[in-house]
Amino acid sequence: MARYTGAVCRQCRREGKKLFLKGERCYTDKCAVTRRSYAPGQHGQGRKKSSEYGLQLRAKQMTKRYYGVLESQFRHYYDLAEKKEGKTGEALLAILESRLDNVIYKMGWASSHAEARQFVTHGHVTVNGKRVDIPSYLTSVGDVIAICEKSRSLDKIKAVVEANSARPVPKYLEANNETLEGKVVAVAQREEIDLDVDETLIVELYSK
Ligand code: SF4
Repeated sequence: MARYTGAVCRQCRREGKKLFLKGERCYTDKCAVTRRSYAPGQHGQGRKKSSEYGLQLRAKQMTKRYYGVLESQFRHYYDLAEKKEGKTGEALLAILESRLDNVIYKMGWASSHAEARQFVTHGHVTVNGKRVDIPSYLTSVGDVIAICEKSRSLDKIKAVVEANSARPVPKYLEANNETLEGKVVAVAQREEIDLDVDETLIVELYSK
């Protein structure tokens, strides 16, 4: 599976926003966006004005980076979103929210999308009672998501769930931190998705 292997915080600095890619560190003064609030690289502190295309590109890149999705897969999600009723941009975000790694992260059972991905690939997660080790698995309304029985007692999982217990769970999900079982109760609505992006810019970019 292809994945981004560069410096993680660089991605946030490039977007000028916290994308919360590193878990706990993101909430501390050590966050690179807090310490150096300009883009990385030689010209990072230079020209700030963006063209229309530049804004559209940044919106797409930021969304990809937030969910940890590469271009071909992102484009595939866009194609799926286009076939849905309603606004394509909102449908795109709802599809991204339904990824299994995102669901684990939003339930508060991982500190970041990357950690959630790791939990899934390491076989700690079940969907409707069956082990699923594919982070990009798209969950559906009614799916029961759980940390598999053997993994519930692992110190690492317990510590992560405890550390993230104060993070609010979005309304479209239910999560029980005692049983480590949860459910997808609805399709994610735009106002429930805490990503500060104008998704219409992504639609404009791909519609060219
Ligand atoms: Fe982004 Fe987190 Fe790094 Fe801050 S610490 S730059 S929010 S990944």
